[in-house]
Amino acid sequence: MRPLADIPVETARALAGIVFDLDDTVLDHGALAEATYSALFRLRASGLRLIACTGRPAGWGQVIQRQWPLDATVVENGALALIPEPLPPPPRTAPSPSSSTSTKGTGTRIGMADPLDPAARRDRRAALLDLAEALVRDFPATALADDNGARVTDVTLDIGEHRQVPSADVERMRAIAHEQGVRTLVSSVHLHLTREVEDKATGVLRLLSRHFAEDPTGALRRYAFVGDSGNDGVAFAAFTTTFGVANVREHLGRMSVPPRFVASSPMGRGFVEIALQLVALRAA
Ligand SMILES: [Mg+2]
Repeated sequence: MRPLADIPVETARALAGIVFDLDDTVLDHGALAEATYSALFRLRASGLRLIACTGRPAGWGQVIQRQWPLDATVVENGALALIPEPLPPPPRTAPSPSSSTSTKGTGTRIGMADPLDPAARRDRRAALLDLAEALVRDFPATALADDNGARVTDVTLDIGEHRQVPSADVERMRAIAHEQGVRTLVSSVHLHLTREVEDKATGVLRLLSRHFAEDPTGALRRYAFVGDSGNDGVAFAAFTTTFGVANVREHLGRMSVPPRFVASSPMGRGFVEIALQLVALRAA
C-alpha cells in the first residue's frame, strides 16, 4: 500500500467516478461527520460520479439515495442497486386556488430492480432467517443485527456493532452456513448470510453497465474504490485504483489483495484525505 502522495495526477484525472463503502470508511462507527459529508460534494463538484456501496440494507439505501449527493447506491453487498428514476410529468390541469405552486414532488423517485418475484424472495429470506436464529441459539455471543427489518435479500448477524464475537466463533458460523449452501460475507460489524451471487465488485459493475452505459472492463479503470474491511476485498482485487482508510490495516488478513493506496487517518477523516487529494490533483 502506498501513501496518497504517490497517486499519479493522470490517474486522478482519468477517473469517471468513485465507489465507496460506508461503515468505518465514510462513517465513523455509524456516524457521518460534517467534513466527510462536505467531501462528497467536493468530489462531485470535481466531476466524479458518486456511488455508495454497502452491506447495509436496501431500506437504508433508499434514505441516503434521496438525501446525499449520490448517483446510485449499491446495497446488501452488491445484491441490489438503487437509482434515481425520473417521475412522469404531472397532469396538465389548472391548479386549484388551494393547491401549492411548489414544484416539489416532481423530481425523482428511487428505483430498485429485484430479479426475484416477491413470493420467491420472501421464501428465500425466511429460510435464511431460520438459519440465523439457529446460529444465535448455538453462538449466544452474537445476535440478529438491528437493521434486518430494512433488508430485502440477506439476513445479518451482529459480530462487532453492539456485540463482540470472537473470530473463531465467526469462522465456525461461516462453516455451518457454507455446509447449507449459504454464502457468507464479513464486514467490520456484521456476518451476512445470503443466497445471492453478487459481491460489491460484481454488483457495482452490473449497475454501471445497465444504468450508466459503462463497459464493465473499462469501468474497472474508470472508477476508483474506497473501503476498509473484508467485504471490500473483492473490490480491492477487481478495481485498478483502490484506496483504504487507515483502519484497513486491521482487516488485511481477510483480503487477497490490499488497496493500492492508503490514507494516514482512519474512517471518515481518511476518506476526507483521499477525497481532497483527488480533488486537488484533478484541479492541478
Ligand atoms: Mg466498512
